[in-house]
Amino acid sequence: MSGNFLALAQPGVQQLSPYVPGKPVDELARELDLDPAKIVKLASNENPLGASPKALAAIREELAELTRYPDGNGFALKSLLAEQCRVELSQVTLGNGSNDILELVARAYLAPGLNAVFSEHAFAVYPIATQAVGAQAKVVPAKDWGHDLPAMFAAIDANTRVVFIANPNNPTGTWFGAEALDEFLQDVPEHVLVVLDEAYIEYAEGSDLPDGLDFLAAYPNLLVSRTFSKAYGLASLRVGYGLSTPVVADVLNRVRQPFNVNSLALAAACAALKDEEYLAQSRQLNESGMQQLQTGFRELGLGWIESKGNFICVDLGQVAAPIFQGLLREGVIVRPVANYGMPNHLRVTIGLPAENSRFLEALRKVLARG
Ligand SMILES: *Cc1c(COP(=O)(O)O)cnc(C)c1O
Repeated sequence: MSGNFLALAQPGVQQLSPYVPGKPVDELARELDLDPAKIVKLASNENPLGASPKALAAIREELAELTRYPDGNGFALKSLLAEQCRVELSQVTLGNGSNDILELVARAYLAPGLNAVFSEHAFAVYPIATQAVGAQAKVVPAKDWGHDLPAMFAAIDANTRVVFIANPNNPTGTWFGAEALDEFLQDVPEHVLVVLDEAYIEYAEGSDLPDGLDFLAAYPNLLVSRTFSKAYGLASLRVGYGLSTPVVADVLNRVRQPFNVNSLALAAACAALKDEEYLAQSRQLNESGMQQLQTGFRELGLGWIESKGNFICVDLGQVAAPIFQGLLREGVIVRPVANYGMPNHLRVTIGLPAENSRFLEALRKVLARG
């Protein structure tokens, strides 16, 4: 007798939909018989600069050691991070992408009967991590596309163990200030772990966004997660980190894969962290590209959601889905966000100036066709 292996999966997993990534360039090239070199992908919040030359050099050097297991403790990278983030080495957890950190938190602190609270229009990995371990996802309605922190606090109950908040949030780009964060952290019960996902924080420096690290000392139930995938330009290597109390870091360390971050990723992340010029260039490119897209949207009479990330959601009303298809035919890949409860928007990653122009030109054409 054969088993029904969908029905046999634990109920939380049966209710999940797989994560939908941005459409890969090669896939679109195959489907439409296009030259991959002419396709513009602005769909996955990747850094359009390409990886830092210093990171590439570090990887080349590390290749000689590929036969060996990586340093399972990630000593060199943790040391650099501890110094830069003004924390002890024992407070750093490395992850296979910050995605890994989110999953480690879920595995260590969630279980059937317990729940995690997060916002509507939040990162798709929060429900996946939560339901994969049989816990309940408590989704709180957003306010003006952003996190409604007081409502999220109100949603916390006796079975809540984790709250996921992203600042800025993906896919909306919305953010909250230091005061709102502080009030929220003061309110949240001490036994609830607050995961502050700062995947895009490097783009927001100098703005009114709080630096999560400033709150670590005061709130032992805070974990700040960050990544090398976005502003540091290393998405393919999968490396991110969490900063927390040593106790939480110790707990996460118990459930992680022994070698969850590979040696090329470790070496590249160390080099990228030291390459301040690359980071400054990433920020500058993002700022000017954001202006370029907003100017283009204004000229086209389109609205958007203000964003502090390296992406922006443009409002296309009822025709967002056909416009997405029309853009694909023009060789431009952006991201539909209907599966995030945003059927009228498309999320566009800030690209190089020429990529942004190609996108705006394609959008103009597709809109004109009606
Ligand atoms: C991209 C992203 C991440 C992390 O990505 P990794 O590549 O796994 O580090 C985490 N949170 C949000 C909100 C993101 O957009």
